[in-house]
Amino acid sequence: MVIAIDGPAGAGKSSVARAAAAALGFTYLDSGAMYRCVGLAGIEPGADLDDGAAMGELARSLAIGLDGERVTIDGRDVSEAIRGPAVTEAASRVSVHPQVREAMVARQRRMIATGRYVAEGRDIGTVVSPEAPLKVFLTASERERARRRAAQTGEDGAAVLAAQRERDARDRTREHSALRAAPGAVEIDTTALSLERVVERVVELARERGLA
Ligand code: C5P
Repeated sequence: MVIAIDGPAGAGKSSVARAAAAALGFTYLDSGAMYRCVGLAGIEPGADLDDGAAMGELARSLAIGLDGERVTIDGRDVSEAIRGPAVTEAASRVSVHPQVREAMVARQRRMIATGRYVAEGRDIGTVVSPEAPLKVFLTASERERARRRAAQTGEDGAAVLAAQRERDARDRTREHSALRAAPGAVEIDTTALSLERVVERVVELARERGLA
């Protein structure tokens, strides 16, 4: 069973999903980390990220391990390597390919079938688990999302905003699993809300629905 938390980059999905999972005693699933692993595995040998068939094959071949904060590819710890700006860009590019998405979605479905999860991403409520008993769509203004990311990574604010616009456009307009709120999703605009307040709301919604 899964609580789905979707939304654009910087809307607070990771912090909210992690804290809500801890509060509810569920397991946290960071689906973006999986796409980042494919991106990293693509750029290291200098592969063509726009080759869907090759990226799909790569995605199917990787042993991706997710254990709390620790992310591994074939046993190698890539927790930090997947967070750099080059991998952020590569993940956004490889995630447009249906071959890559099919491989990741199949793994995510297998995982969430084994227990109680709070999963965050772009397509958890629309594709991975449309039957999820609670779907949340987090948003925040474009400027606030860029401000949060720049504060987190120390990157230049204007550069973050420009790169974010490009990734947002790719997520929203891609042919397969474009980013959108799932039917029945509860939308929360986090622009002016504290992290604690958003987590409280998600936990409250989970309780109201008898999930915890
Ligand atoms: O959430 P995060 O920024 O780590 O995701 C990295 C990239 O993976 C995003 O740019 C997005 O395009 C892609 N992604 C996706 N579907 C998901 C999660 C992430 O396409 N469920």
